[in-house]
Parts: sequence; structure tokens; C-alpha cells
Amino acid sequence: MKTRIITPDDTAGMLAAAETLRHGGLVAFPTETVYGLGGNALDPAAAAKIYEAKGRPSDNPLIIHVNSIDEAALYCEVCDLYERLYRHFLPGPLTVILPKRDNIPSEVTAGLDTVAVRIPSHPVARKLISLSGIPVAAPSANSSGRPSPTTALHVAEDLIGRIDFIIDGGSCDFGLESTIVKPEGNNRLTVLRPGAVTPEMLSKVCDEVTLAPSVTGFFRGTTPEAPGMKYRHYAPNLPVVILDGSGKEIENFLSDKTNFGFLCFDEDMDIFQDRDDVVAISMGGCSDYAAQAHRLFDCLRHFDEVEGIDTIYARMPRRDGVSLAVFNRLVKAAGMDIRKL
Ligand code: AMP
Ligand code: MG
Repeated sequence: MKTRIITPDDTAGMLAAAETLRHGGLVAFPTETVYGLGGNALDPAAAAKIYEAKGRPSDNPLIIHVNSIDEAALYCEVCDLYERLYRHFLPGPLTVILPKRDNIPSEVTAGLDTVAVRIPSHPVARKLISLSGIPVAAPSANSSGRPSPTTALHVAEDLIGRIDFIIDGGSCDFGLESTIVKPEGNNRLTVLRPGAVTPEMLSKVCDEVTLAPSVTGFFRGTTPEAPGMKYRHYAPNLPVVILDGSGKEIENFLSDKTNFGFLCFDEDMDIFQDRDDVVAISMGGCSDYAAQAHRLFDCLRHFDEVEGIDTIYARMPRRDGVSLAVFNRLVKAAGMDIRKL
């Protein structure tokens, strides 16, 4: 299959991409979180194509993308709490799990009776949704298990020749996938995946906000967990090990290690500057969570291009605010391998 790469200002190209989407083809597009791989959410065959192109297990449901709460209500049952979330955070990087209507095929929701709904704010995503006139099912536009794509180049690395279009809208603002929440009643939310909309922000519109065990529950401190492949996501090809300690402790721990990558903060960049066998890449300043989120996946992909290293050692992100999302993705990339120093 030939993949056409277009830019959003190519009006004829955008119309062709929307037409392809409506008729069952696959189009990768930018959002404010990461690039999505879109297919017609009303078409079971399009959902099957998404799973195949990504190599994604078909028991992992897709998120549907629409432009407004009125459109959302066509495909799921909206509740008062959703309306509140909508007023405060949407359009934006928040996905909400709601009871699905019959028009959404079970292939999209992997057989669940709920559907994940997102209303993106990115103008190119919104344009594609409105031009196509359909709800767009879209997981992240990477090969399953790889770091999510934050540029069109990342999408091309994983999916060129497997999808119809890539819309190159530059690099994604936030850089990590959307926050996913599940409402229970009108005043309780469970955060299933942390993202740019933080638990602290959600608490302003909802009395009870809890984190699902998968957000932090695998963190058990001292000894490394067995890093089974099935727990590894968002991952580069090299093994990732997270080091939980101070700069000095990390320097000591790594002093007898050779040929490694060091995923660090700006403040750490000079620690190994005299060593030819160490490649340090910074996620951003240690308190600059937005930079860390924006760069994390790109940094992980960069390490795969470096020759001569066999392990990536990473600094431990904090677990508050937006950094909780950075922590969550990095721990998954590391297959839960955290060393307490
Ligand atoms: P991705 O689109 O690649 O960011 O992945 C979508 C995420 O949403 C996955 O973690 C899914 O498991 C999750 N998801 C999608 N639909 C549902 C649902 N109905 N209930 C719970 N989680 C969902
Ligand atoms: Mg994904």
C-alpha cells in the first residue's frame, strides 16, 4: 500500500483523506496529545484494519473522536458529570468511558458495553472529523508496544506502507496520551490513565477522584519486578531500567557500568560528559514536567538509533501533577524495572 503524506494546508489532500476515512481507509492525524490512527468508528472492518496495521491485540478497545457533546450523545449515554467535565476540560486531552449506544460496533469497544469518547482540541483533528462527517476511532498511531508517536516521522517509522494517509501537522503539544476517566454516578471518577488533565484538576469538578491500581499500583519499591513482555508498553527496543535515587547515588551505581544510555534531566547532563560509552539524553529540567511529557517518547525513540549501547538507565520522574503521566509511561516502558538506590 502507498501511504500519502500531506500537510493540513493541502485542502484537496485533506478532502481526500476525509473521503478515505469515511470509506473504510486509515488516516494518521495530529492531536494535542499524540498522533492518532483514525478509522470509521461505525465500520467494523475499519476497526479490524486498525488492529492489523498496529499489530494491536483486538481485546484492547479504541477511543472514538468527535467534535462536540451533541455528537458524543449520538454514540454514548452522556451524564451530568460528563457535562461538567465537558464545560471545564473539553475540547481537550481527556477521554471519558461512557455506556455505548448500539451504533458503535463491538469490534471498536472490544466487546465492552462502554465506549471511550474524546473531543480533541487540535484544529487538524477537528477539521478531519468535520470533513469526514463520522466519529473517528483512533488509537495512537504507533506499532503496538512502541512509544507513541509525537511527530509524523514517528508515525512513518512504524506504519508507512500500512495505512492510507499521514497528515503531518508538526509535533504534538502535550506529547503523552489523553487522561482516561470512568465516571461512577454523578460525583465519582476513576482515573484509568494519567495525562495532561491531572487528578488535582479533576478534583475541582468532582468530589471523589481515585487512581486505578494500574496507574501506580505496580510500584512496589525496592526490588525489580519480573519484566514480562506483556507488561511492557511505550517501549524502545532496548531494556529500560529506572533508577530511584539522587544524582550522586545514580553516579555511584552507574560508575562500573559500561555502554549505556542515560535518560536524564537537564541538570544531569554533565555527570557522564567525560565518558565516550555513555549517551545522555535529557527529558527537560527536573521540575519542567511539560517538557518531560513533550519529549519522553521522542527520547525513547532516539535511543533506538544510537549504536553501541545495550541498556537505558532513566531518572525516576515525580508522581504529582502532570509528572504522574510521565512516571506512568516510563514505568511501563521499563516493564516495571525500578531499582531503589
Ligand atoms: P490508545 O488509543 O492507544 O491511547 O489506547 C486507548 C486506551 O483506552 C487503552 O488503554 C484502552 O484500554 C482504553 N479504553 C478504550 N476503551 C475503553 C473502555 N470502554 N473501557 C476502558 N478502557 C478503554
Ligand atoms: Mg496507544
